[in-house]
Amino acid sequence: MTTTPQLTRTGLALRGVTLSYPDGESRLTALDAVSLVVAPGEFTAVVGPSGSGKSSLLAVAATLQRPDTGEVMIDGQDTGALGDRARTALRRERLGIVFQQSNLLASLTAVEQLLVLESVRGGRPAAARARAEELLTSVGLDGAKQRRRPHQLSGGERQRVNIARALFGRPSVLLVDEPTSALDHERGTQIVELLAEVTRTHGTATVMVTHDRDLLHRVDRVAQMHDGRLR
Ligand code: ADP
Ligand code: MG
Repeated sequence: MTTTPQLTRTGLALRGVTLSYPDGESRLTALDAVSLVVAPGEFTAVVGPSGSGKSSLLAVAATLQRPDTGEVMIDGQDTGALGDRARTALRRERLGIVFQQSNLLASLTAVEQLLVLESVRGGRPAAARARAEELLTSVGLDGAKQRRRPHQLSGGERQRVNIARALFGRPSVLLVDEPTSALDHERGTQIVELLAEVTRTHGTATVMVTHDRDLLHRVDRVAQMHDGRLR
């Protein structure tokens, strides 16, 4: 089902990205000529105050939002040139996204949260289950926890499920929005350490958005967002 097999994994590149939202009579500029390149295996943090444009940056990088101007390249593919269906396919094949809210399905166990994606993809069930279990183990969830539903897991454990789920489709680019906002400091640190580890082992171009400056010791690079501009 891969539509773009010829693309090599080169990561994420944003060039001159501008995004505005309607704001009464005028428009509010959420992203102002933002450029950002993240290579495979590189862990970049984007920090900045609330309202500075961090989530907008991720929405554009995730191809969920089209910028007003500028380019969003994923594995060398200019996503602006793609129609909606091709963008959806690219997202499924190349992107892993961990949103601020966990958006796990309440009725499914941890392992089923991953397998539900495979039923969409149409792969072999036994191989998918083995891979789902292996990924959940690798993010620190043992067999018993893999059979629990979201309400039977802690916030940190739910975030681990989210990360495993995002990795399930073998993404090139991993986008993570405020992964620690619902966690205490120790668990937040553990999640950032896990993201550093998966960036290395899976070779993802990882962007983590956070407003918490204490969590930056494990990242390769820090970019600062201020009023829609990236420094
Ligand atoms: P952050 O994630 O850093 O808090 P956001 O990207 O969510 O920042 O928001 C950047 C700016 O864009 C803010 O001023 C916010 O109010 C505005 N904004 C975000 N999403 C929308 C939207 N869907 N419609 C209108 N304005 C929005
Ligand atoms: Mg945000």
